[in-house]
Amino acid sequence: MTETETWKQQPVKVPAATDEPQTENFGLGGTVVAPGSVADGRIVLGTDVHGLEAGFDFRVFHGRFKGPRIVVQGGVHGDEYDGQQAVRSLFAHLDPEQMHGTVIAIPCLSETAFVADARESGVDGCNFNRIFPGSPTGTFSNRLADLYIREIIPAADAMVDIHTGGAYGQIAPLAVVQGGFEELAQPLGIAAGNEILWKGGAWGGTSRIAFLEAGKPAVTLEYGGGTYRREMVQHHLGSLLNILRYTGVLEGEAELRGSYRRVDATFAPSAAGGFYVAHAEPGDEVTGGALLAEVVDHLGNVRGEVTAPNDGIVVWIRRRCATNIGDESIIFGTVLAEVVVE
Ligand SMILES: [Zn+2]
Repeated sequence: MTETETWKQQPVKVPAATDEPQTENFGLGGTVVAPGSVADGRIVLGTDVHGLEAGFDFRVFHGRFKGPRIVVQGGVHGDEYDGQQAVRSLFAHLDPEQMHGTVIAIPCLSETAFVADARESGVDGCNFNRIFPGSPTGTFSNRLADLYIREIIPAADAMVDIHTGGAYGQIAPLAVVQGGFEELAQPLGIAAGNEILWKGGAWGGTSRIAFLEAGKPAVTLEYGGGTYRREMVQHHLGSLLNILRYTGVLEGEAELRGSYRRVDATFAPSAAGGFYVAHAEPGDEVTGGALLAEVVDHLGNVRGEVTAPNDGIVVWIRRRCATNIGDESIIFGTVLAEVVVE
């Protein structure tokens, strides 16, 4: 039996949106944005080997009225395209003359990972989602993480971080509501509208945890991957718009689900190399022992099987068929609780 917990609706812990006119400019990385206007800027780490300014671009929508300042970011992993495009697709829905608060949109945080078309930066091989808080004297990505903490976190009240399953696999729609930070993170996760609330792994080093440790709500949204799909972009956009309505940045009623599921998930590296044949889809509910995937040789002989460790949900399934020993084969979710919204 899965336990049931109730969750009383509560606001995200950020300054409330009001109808009081914003009188102050918003400043970030040398860019100054007047109330009711939009401006672009760039956080610059330094000059790279090509003489270009290394860092990341942002666009600020500074509302006419007072409200929370929310960072919406993609491209922490360079090969996760749907999230990057979702941030850009939000632009058309933001009218600063009507907005309460400020949206700081960062479509691609790790440009060097995007250029490498990879999860990790092509400059130093770092995974930008494992190195926070970084270091001012470390490698390129470590310095960028340190700069993010000094520039972005003080400029914002909350953060939404959009990911996908990466180039190698596809993930079910979910929100990572970091274990130990539920009070800060859960209202954002609920507002995102994905049924699965993943408590997150024991790993640290994420910009999400850096925000949470600063006492500011933050959530990671996952959906898609394996390739680029407009459907996934639209889904992420829907989550962003609902979060912005829930926090009062945009007018209109946010829609919440009646219930969610708190899930813990485990990764399973493949014990065998070969051709990966999926027998399940992300989001599938399966019973313990169900066959989820096989790794076969070129003649179809089965070299390895991936089975469900218990009843649960297929969270991520591999989409790249060429599989080496130790490659990720599945992420499997165990439902800890049904979360009923009151
Ligand atoms: Zn990612």
